Amino acid sequence: MRVAFLGLGIMGQPMAANLAKAGHDVVAWNRSPGKTVDGARIAATPAEAAADAEAVWLCVSDTAAVNEVLWGENGAGSVLKPGVVVVDSSTISPSAERQNAERIRQAGGDYIDAPMTGSKIGARDAQLVFMVGGESASIEKVRPLFEAMGKTVHHVGGIGLGQAAKLAQNLQNAVIFESFAEGLMLATKLGVPPETLVGIVKSTMTKSGVVEYKSPFVLNRDFSPNFPLKLMYKDIKLMLEAARENRVKLPALETVAEIYEVAIEEGHEDLDYAATLTILEKWAGIQVKGTAAS
Ligand code: NAP
Repeated sequence: MRVAFLGLGIMGQPMAANLAKAGHDVVAWNRSPGKTVDGARIAATPAEAAADAEAVWLCVSDTAAVNEVLWGENGAGSVLKPGVVVVDSSTISPSAERQNAERIRQAGGDYIDAPMTGSKIGARDAQLVFMVGGESASIEKVRPLFEAMGKTVHHVGGIGLGQAAKLAQNLQNAVIFESFAEGLMLATKLGVPPETLVGIVKSTMTKSGVVEYKSPFVLNRDFSPNFPLKLMYKDIKLMLEAARENRVKLPALETVAEIYEVAIEEGHEDLDYAATLTILEKWAGIQVKGTAAS
């Protein structure tokens, strides 16, 4: 298929590369120039990338970025031909997706919200799991594109429900990681080597994909971003907003949000969200490796 891929960040760049690798005709675009994708042409604007596309795939930071890329100056929304399928894999607000879908529908196109999980390694290995809102017929039109980038497509329901599922799923990543980090802190303070605790967790019912993915990075103190802390905080705010609107209380997430606020105040926003551990370390006065915190 002829695909415009908009947004070449940690996730978008390998996703676009996997589309090209699978034989699709990819024209990619990124706001900051200089990004390249093996096997793809780079366009100067979203409109240029989307001009001749059968599918337009977005993967940018947040709701404002999606608005900019679709509806801003030289946005993809200005050039869409009837029949095009627009897919948004950014994690944004469910209600914004319903507005985007309505505008795309008026232009004669199909819209799907398709946020994903699997992080940097899942994107690289074409092992993403997509949570999708939209019509079944629209999903089928771009099924080969999903298959080139991921392993599973969960069709959750109508527009916005992919985002709703993603928020509920990512809530658990945020809280599970926090419980892992707190367990590591307590273990370290009590004299249990962190590697030993990780081994115990992995061999018991406490094990999780979050611990599986994050523990090598944490034990190596590699906080370079797989999923930037500021984007997890963006998602936490979307979760809390959805909870408020729907009269749901999320006390554990509210507490986790406070740790992210401190981490951002401390300048950790561009690190991985695993760097929230360093806030616990500061409060405890130790590092998980056992050396004194500075
Ligand atoms: P990232 O590496 O920070 O990349 C963000 C991308 O958005 C960059 O291409 C950036 O362009 C672009 N962007 C930001 N603001 C923009 C604007 N106003 N107009 C146009 N482009 C803009 O983030 P990522 O990790 O790839 O995440 C992308 C999306 O996937 C986010 O919604 C995130 O929540 C979601 N997600 C991420 C992961 C993960 O593990 N990383 C997993 C699941 C879902 P520049 O290069 O110019 O800054």
